[in-house]
Amino acid sequence: MTDIEQFRLQTREWLEANCPTSMRTPMPIDEMVWGGRNLSFVSEDQRLWFERMRDKGWFVPDWPVGYGGGGLDPQRLAVLESEMRRLRCRPPQINLGIWMLGPVLLEFGTEEQKRELLPPMARGEIRWCQGFSEPNAGSDLASLQTSAREDGDAFIINGTKIWTSYGNMSDWMYALVRTGPKEPKHAGISLIVLDMNSAGVNVEPIDLISGKSSFCQVFFDDVRVPKRQLIGELNGGWPLAKALLQHERRAMSKFSEISLPTHFDLLEYLRRYLPDASSPGEIALQQRAVSCLMEEHAFRLTHRRINETMRARQDASGLMAISKLVHSEQERDKFEVLLDVMGQRALGWSGDGFSERELALTNTWLNSFAQTIAGGSSEVQLNVIAKRVLGLPEAK
Ligand SMILES: Cc1cc2nc3c(=O)[nH]c(=O)nc-3n(C[C@H](O)[C@H](O)[C@H](O)COP(=O)(O)OP(=O)(O)OC[C@H]3O[C@@H](n4cnc5c(N)ncnc54)[C@H](O)[C@@H]3O)c2cc1C
Repeated sequence: MTDIEQFRLQTREWLEANCPTSMRTPMPIDEMVWGGRNLSFVSEDQRLWFERMRDKGWFVPDWPVGYGGGGLDPQRLAVLESEMRRLRCRPPQINLGIWMLGPVLLEFGTEEQKRELLPPMARGEIRWCQGFSEPNAGSDLASLQTSAREDGDAFIINGTKIWTSYGNMSDWMYALVRTGPKEPKHAGISLIVLDMNSAGVNVEPIDLISGKSSFCQVFFDDVRVPKRQLIGELNGGWPLAKALLQHERRAMSKFSEISLPTHFDLLEYLRRYLPDASSPGEIALQQRAVSCLMEEHAFRLTHRRINETMRARQDASGLMAISKLVHSEQERDKFEVLLDVMGQRALGWSGDGFSERELALTNTWLNSFAQTIAGGSSEVQLNVIAKRVLGLPEAK
């Protein structure tokens, strides 16, 4: 038996012994564990699963052990991921820090920043939010105006960020700020991290059509941030922002593994709600569902290719834009098909004798539209693909 085969067996045994059966079910959005200072669990099983994976370093299986990771090489990481998928294990925690800032810190952070910021991230002790978008800087992110003025050993931050997901529940933010007001717009931006408890930070939740309020607007009023919290060079934040957005686009496709219901559930819903499809309309619906499943399968294969490209340290930016575009649009199509399969049963909002999963569908369907905008809209992804993958000239 090869080392890898042995690792697979050990991993399978460990997961079977340590992942409670209730953690092997699709995860409703409101049961995600986000980590952070105000950590909470909906069940004892959830707490156990979180703590066991944390203690293995498997929140970040491929990060170096010295920064709190599991130290797995790419082959072993792939084995762990496939064994978790096989058992349908829930992700033990969700954390923007791990998905987006962590990889950027590993690449661009100083040793001191890595030692200070990565281990608590790897243990799920800090919940991170992203402070990029502003009221007049979304797709054109480099137009951001939130300013960071140097003052001795600190920056003084003023301005506002918008659409900050879970800003009201997060402990720390990674933010893009303008440190070079006289520089060309891409050359005057820096990446900093800040504690959301700092004096002068105010967070206002914004309501959403889907009934949730994950969006916030964050206001900075003379917020003092130590200079050691600057990541990378002063005015050198733009390449880091681009790297971070690439990680965001890749991470967003992971939502397929946690969004409810999955493509597997699509078949179950078909069997349940259209057991004897015979009319032309019903047969057409079945065909749409099957084509969704086939596209999802093709997407997974592409995703594996992206992972391999990244592990080989080759440029995957174009592939990640493709991945984000295709995946978010596939998810939206999946929910459209699901709604058509379920008909009026999918339209309940609350009460009415609907099961939890059916209720979650309405919210998740609405949320699927948002995912075609978050992390860069589909139109912006098409621009990136035109430029970086197809090599087309800039539109004049
Ligand atoms: C669910 C969700 C979560 C989010 N979370 C966060 C977060 O945590 N932190 C954060 O900083 N931001 C977050 N955002 C904001 C997100 O990054 C922006 O909404 C997104 O980048 C688009 O910017 P905008 O809303 O300003 O739209 P705009 O940039 O004003 O775009 C409006 C429309 O014009 C189109 N458009 C714009 N420019 C072009 C172009 N050059 N070519 C073709 N079409 C174009 C867009 O596609 C869109 O349809 C989130 C958004 C969503 C939906």
